[in-house]
Amino acid sequence: MKLVVLGSPGAGKGTYTQELVKRLNLVHISTGEIFRHLAQEGNPLGLKVKEKYLSQGKLVPDDVVISLVKERLSNNDCEAGFILDGFPRTLEQAEALQNIVKIDTVLLFKADDDVIISRISGRMTCQDCGRIYHMKNMNPKQEGVCDICGGEVLIRSDDNEEAVRDRLRIYREKTAPLINYYRKKGLLSELLINEDFGTHGEMIIARIMKVLGIN
Ligand code: AMP
Repeated sequence: MKLVVLGSPGAGKGTYTQELVKRLNLVHISTGEIFRHLAQEGNPLGLKVKEKYLSQGKLVPDDVVISLVKERLSNNDCEAGFILDGFPRTLEQAEALQNIVKIDTVLLFKADDDVIISRISGRMTCQDCGRIYHMKNMNPKQEGVCDICGGEVLIRSDDNEEAVRDRLRIYREKTAPLINYYRKKGLLSELLINEDFGTHGEMIIARIMKVLGIN
């Protein structure tokens, strides 16, 4: 299964993508995660991209992201299926993706504005594996330590109020047009998720599986 997940920051796509990847045995390709890893490793491109774009909530130029994704998708591990998370984010990226691979479904995660703000304001992320936690109801068992890989769990530098406001604005301006783009192609499935993952996760995953035609 070859999937794209769309949704504004805080709509839940990261959390549910982690679950789908595990349950459906798919490769998780998160462009944001790839950039954060490159920067963490001290890679010159990663450091430049982090300073100029990520830390300010700005989009990395299309040509840089497209070539990164093209290379990642050419890897053999993608043949059995993947979830693209955070790509495409512009119409130019969507057109480029169409020339690289055929996508089966695009899942659009939606949530009300107040839910989005409360999710982002308490969000913490593992620096190593990208696992998402939340201060309110999904803390790691040991403070600051990832349950899955033992990595350091921190608030992302672009999860501050100013960068989040910019990311939401850019999402509405550049990424939201992709909703119609994929709707017209008959690929879009929409999910409104205002409930907490902590208490309603299984029910929501069942809804997503149904949308994907999996029992
Ligand atoms: P994310 O983890 O998906 O929220 O992405 C974090 C940041 O990485 C974004 O705010 C952008 O600066 C950059 N980024 C990730 N994916 C893309 C993309 N497809 N196009 C442009 N910038 C991206």
